[in-house]
Amino acid sequence: MTTTIVGFPRVGAHRELKFATEKFFRGEISATELQETAKELRQGQWKLIRNAGIDEIPSGDFSLYDQTLDAAVLFGIVPKRYRDLGLTPLETYFAQARGYQGEKGDVKALPMKKWFNTNYHYIEPELEASQTIALTGTQPVDQFLEAKEQGIITRPVVVGPFTLFQLAKKEEGLDEDAAIEALGSAYGELLTKLADAGAHWIQLDEPSLVVDLSEEDLARFTRLYESLLANKGTLKVLVQTYFGDVRDSYDTLTSLPIDGIGLDFVEGRQTLKLVTGSGFPAEKTLFAGVVNGKNIWRNNFAATQELLGRVRDAAATVVLTTSCSLQHVPYSVEYETDLAPKYVKHLAFAVEKLGELTALDRGATDAGLGERDDVTDRKVQKRVAGITESDYHRSPERDKRDRVQREEFQLPLLPTTTIGSFPQTTDVKATRKAYRTGEITAAEYADFNKKKIAECVAWQDQTGLDVIVHGEYERNDMVEYFGQHLDGFLFTRNGWVQSYGTRCVKPPLVWGDVSRPAPITVEWSSYAQSLTEKPVKGMLTGPVTILNWSFPREDISIKESILQIALAIRDEVLDLERAGIRIIQVDEAALREKLPLRRSDWFSEYLDFAIPAFRLVHSGVDATTQIHTHMCYSQFTDILPAIDALDADVITFEASRSDLEILDALVECDFRTNIGPGVYDIHSPRVPSVEEIVTQIKRIATTIDVKKLWVNPDCGLKTRGEEETKKSLTNLVAAAREARDTLRR
Ligand code: GLN
Ligand code: ZN
Repeated sequence: MTTTIVGFPRVGAHRELKFATEKFFRGEISATELQETAKELRQGQWKLIRNAGIDEIPSGDFSLYDQTLDAAVLFGIVPKRYRDLGLTPLETYFAQARGYQGEKGDVKALPMKKWFNTNYHYIEPELEASQTIALTGTQPVDQFLEAKEQGIITRPVVVGPFTLFQLAKKEEGLDEDAAIEALGSAYGELLTKLADAGAHWIQLDEPSLVVDLSEEDLARFTRLYESLLANKGTLKVLVQTYFGDVRDSYDTLTSLPIDGIGLDFVEGRQTLKLVTGSGFPAEKTLFAGVVNGKNIWRNNFAATQELLGRVRDAAATVVLTTSCSLQHVPYSVEYETDLAPKYVKHLAFAVEKLGELTALDRGATDAGLGERDDVTDRKVQKRVAGITESDYHRSPERDKRDRVQREEFQLPLLPTTTIGSFPQTTDVKATRKAYRTGEITAAEYADFNKKKIAECVAWQDQTGLDVIVHGEYERNDMVEYFGQHLDGFLFTRNGWVQSYGTRCVKPPLVWGDVSRPAPITVEWSSYAQSLTEKPVKGMLTGPVTILNWSFPREDISIKESILQIALAIRDEVLDLERAGIRIIQVDEAALREKLPLRRSDWFSEYLDFAIPAFRLVHSGVDATTQIHTHMCYSQFTDILPAIDALDADVITFEASRSDLEILDALVECDFRTNIGPGVYDIHSPRVPSVEEIVTQIKRIATTIDVKKLWVNPDCGLKTRGEEETKKSLTNLVAAAREARDTLRR
């Protein structure tokens, strides 16, 4: 069989792209130097994939920031406010991704959204009513030619027109029919150009096909493809899907003159049934995604060969591929020199998965490596089995708690706070590294953190924030930090995965049963509380997020793992309360991550255990203890009742980068939790003005009862610089005061 992959991690083995891009942002290297690094990375990657024995190599899976933004820009979908800045094309590109504040103007970034059910985030394209869609860029052709020069004929990858359109925000007044028509012909033009350049195949990524689709959606898909396929000439078109099955569009896909269809046999529960049941057209190529592009465990070849046998009975031409792009897994196990071989032998990252594809092609049949060591902890399993229904419920009920807490805290109207972390400046990172490598002692490290906490608390006190945080200086990452203090997790040295743009995360691995050997955060929070009269908010990561931002084990259910973690975090909550911490935030930034892509599966397969697991964490606290939670991105309009059922007292979330449409939804569903919709965007270095924040608060207060509102940034500040952070928060406090004065009346 032929082997290929859907895509490869583009940040580089050692995050070279991230570091180069950040240098460019800081003005330390030129655009040309950045492009040089990008080129080296691409070329190194193509060669690596070729040398691993993969037959067909993609190009264009590389991106300087995000592949959806690349596709939008390729077709001229750049909102006017960015075009008007008069920047270079590269600067305009980054202005959309990160906002721009400088000589040429002041524009916010485009919204960033979760890429389906992953922890990757894409930049949401915006179709303005006045939009002209046309092929204006050359990137796929350029990168194809770049590879060709190296003697490699690649298969260019572009986000497909259907997914681009489905994901785009559409301005009112947009003529959708005209946009579809223009998009179809612009993609057609790209196909012609690629064929002229010598390409044999193009891969159009269409993950939007795996969600529930309406007749109208399908008709749109058909129109787009009929139009673009008319211009394909000799070029073969692969429609690549992933993250699920294409039950709604299978018939459409198989009846169109598409040359190849890429299907996910790992996450697509009905994929095999579709292919074996309805049959697969003999004239088409089936790209069978059988190597998991999202997990880090070695493939069970015996099981995969059996699956492949059935696939090959149904389809005449089969190409072996990954279930999705490998951008969702770390680069290579080769760098994991700290992990014992008994662990390492069970792992496969992107590079190793290339080897799995070729091994499968050669007919490898071994059934994995048998039992894993150090997995079971009977005590933990007994504790989970002993959870009763009442453990999932906090009393007294919400309204009563709300009254008690207003009395207890005496906070002003529109209380101000932050989401937890403060800038992780160079000294913070350097000191942590020095501690890790043994250059400084644990005591020296603790002293340093205490010094940072003291400065941070004093600054917040002086600036006038109402609820103080300790700053999270001791944490590298909100999930890894907790994993490191819990039994049952493993950590990688270099297991970085891109989260958005230049931001990468290093998810821990859930290896065995999880428990908490000792308190984790109590010392830091208590120290911070000892320095101020104001309440200090304890800061924890919730069980769902810890699991969703880890690589889960596959021998027990996700539910079982989440409950184990919930019990561990519950112990921490109770210890914080005992230590005098009266406000505790349990972050569930990633609650939505594993929400099934199809609505019909939401409750039965996920929310029915994820929401109670969160309640298990806080149900043991007193009425006077205020529980906060935080979610990144306001993409939960459709699960508001479930969010309310977390039964937290306050929820903060991102709202500044998207429209505040969520507010109407909150009112409509009679949302009861107090809320802090983020009033400014922390994913961008831009400093919001006081007026801007006041306007935002007032806008929010026209919909939401002002008594229920908190004022805060939309996420943690750790990735930001110190100066911009201080300016922004000073403005935030001033804005809250101003809004208080006007809204109280
Ligand atoms: N408390 C965390 C922080 O401030 C929350 C981060 C997040 O939501 N991603 O960093
Ligand atoms: Zn957040």
